[in-house]
Amino acid sequence: MARVIYVNGRYLPYAQAGVHAEDRGFQFADAVYEVIEVRGGRLIDEPRHVARLARSLGELGIAAPMSPRALANVLRETIRRNRVVHGVVYLQVSRGAGPRDFAMPPAGTEPTVVCLARSSRPEAQERAAEHGIRVVTMPDIRWGRSDIKTVMLLPACLAKAAAAGAGAKEAWLVDRDGYVTEGASSNAWIVDASGQLVTRHVDDNILAGVTRATVLDAIAREGYEVSIRPFTPEDAYAAREAFITSASNTVMPVVEIDGRVIASGRPGGLSRRLRQIFHQVATASS
Ligand code: PMP
Repeated sequence: MARVIYVNGRYLPYAQAGVHAEDRGFQFADAVYEVIEVRGGRLIDEPRHVARLARSLGELGIAAPMSPRALANVLRETIRRNRVVHGVVYLQVSRGAGPRDFAMPPAGTEPTVVCLARSSRPEAQERAAEHGIRVVTMPDIRWGRSDIKTVMLLPACLAKAAAAGAGAKEAWLVDRDGYVTEGASSNAWIVDASGQLVTRHVDDNILAGVTRATVLDAIAREGYEVSIRPFTPEDAYAAREAFITSASNTVMPVVEIDGRVIASGRPGGLSRRLRQIFHQVATASS
């Protein structure tokens, strides 16, 4: 069965799925997106992703492209048509197409909606989680509204490429005050010397990760101690554990940062436990 992409109301084979060359997403990164984990054919934490999408659209003044119910259908139909059991579904909404102009297009311009679904191999991810990943730090050169999930991802792509060049899977971005903001495509966590879980507060400079929120729920459920505060790369080098969270990785242990081995160099106990129980705490909707 050929894979298909949803574009503005139609499910099209990959080769035919395209948007207008004057789409504002293409020309100005004037678009937002969500990535939702699919597990056993079900959507993980869909309500939180849908709420964040609405917030991103609202912050940019892009009209909701369809009703929540229609959106839910598009996500499911894209997953179904692509026979994705484990993987992710990606949804992007741009402000639409119009003659290239910095000024906003006229009211009533139809947003562009694209949805695609991709399978992943859970075994490969489990194997990665058993070993943990390497991270390198670098300056956070993004704009001042990283809380909005826009497709303006060039700084993230460059950071990931630099990380890959250094043999690492993720980049941790560091602000001008020397604190880690977040990963290029994940939120950043450590467990400090006292055993406290630490992650940075949410503001305009980081994305409020859905996985981060669910992991905070899991932490509350388990009664672990947590401190919402920024940390530096030096704090991270000295940490007992480190990990990242994102919809496509859930909880992924970090075992090396900037070439320094974290603790024993093996994934930490809290990281492994949070990964184990993540889906007991997350919602799953079919
Ligand atoms: N921060 C950034 C910059 C990201 O791109 C992502 C992944 N989209 C996250 C954090 C994690 O967010 P979530 O848990 O909602 O996937």
